[in-house]
Amino acid sequence: MFSKQFNHNLIEKTVSQSLLKSETEVKSCLTKTTFSSQDLSTLLSPHAENYLETLAQKSVSITRQRFGNTMQLFIPMYLSNECFNTCTYCGFSLEYKYKRKTLNTDEIKQEATLLSQKGFKHILLLTGESPKHVSTPYLKEALQIITPLFSSVGIEVQPLEQKEYQTLIKAGADKLTLYQETYHKKSYLKYHTFGLKRNFNNRLDAIEKGAKAGFYQINIGALLGLYDWRYEAFSLANHLDYLMKKYWKIKFAISFPRIQDMIGSFHEPYPINDKHLTQLITAFRLAYPDLGITLSTRESQTLRDNLAPLGITSMSAESNTSPAGYTKGHYEEQFQTNDNRPLKSIITMLKKKQLDPVTKDWDISLMPN
Ligand code: SF4
Repeated sequence: MFSKQFNHNLIEKTVSQSLLKSETEVKSCLTKTTFSSQDLSTLLSPHAENYLETLAQKSVSITRQRFGNTMQLFIPMYLSNECFNTCTYCGFSLEYKYKRKTLNTDEIKQEATLLSQKGFKHILLLTGESPKHVSTPYLKEALQIITPLFSSVGIEVQPLEQKEYQTLIKAGADKLTLYQETYHKKSYLKYHTFGLKRNFNNRLDAIEKGAKAGFYQINIGALLGLYDWRYEAFSLANHLDYLMKKYWKIKFAISFPRIQDMIGSFHEPYPINDKHLTQLITAFRLAYPDLGITLSTRESQTLRDNLAPLGITSMSAESNTSPAGYTKGHYEEQFQTNDNRPLKSIITMLKKKQLDPVTKDWDISLMPN
């Protein structure tokens, strides 16, 4: 399992090496036509910040070569805001005393039907982490209702066991999203003060249980703002290298979510600016040409418009982060979104940028059984 070989000291060393890369090394690296994860320490160095334009041009070119002009669109749907964990940065955290909600089967059907009628064919189901309210049988039932309405159904739920993941795959889930939040263990324990989520290794290894269970696609990442962004980036690359080598049949994707406002008053201790976020996206595109990169509505309309052509392959749209948020809209949100445009406006924006917004992933239907 990855937790056994994850080496904090090695990551710290890579961060230090990256900070020392010279401008000459950056210039030399950028003359290459192909890159690997070994180049990330140069591409993410402080001197590389001055070459964002070159990084962006190369990123656009690689993305168009590998993915054409396609931009996958999806919508998140929250099934529950119950949570038995205390995560100091999250609006669903256990200590907030508001009325919690888990959708019943009728509500699931109503919400999913509405989203399907809006034109979405890809959906991501999310929950808090409360095995009592959102058990594997509950998720299985939800999937059985939702799957017939969509061509792809992803899940972002608490870490599960391989057999549980298999049950959910059989019920129609094809994508698994599970973020480590932070790969820095000391910080992880500082932000996750109560609940099963305090188990750092359990979260790290659940991804692999999902890979063994046979998900078509797996999305990983860190929640940016909790610790130094370069440390998170090199850890993510280390995790990806491990997974891609061992589970080469699986399609992998990453995301760089940044902490947003929520009910409490959490202020991120390691904020990451737009320039560094752009550097991250473009550097990962160069190092991993076939990797999916997702951009969520956490980011502003302007930034999403600017980043969309640079290496992004998948975007959420019209997101609401509360259960029954689309049909009822009065339960507590996990966090506030910043781009609230309807699907139609996102499609128009993408077309203006010569991108082809798609709501259906045809290659899933072409996959052998
Ligand atoms: S981040 Fe996830 S586990 Fe933590 S409080 Fe929020 S919903 Fe619960």
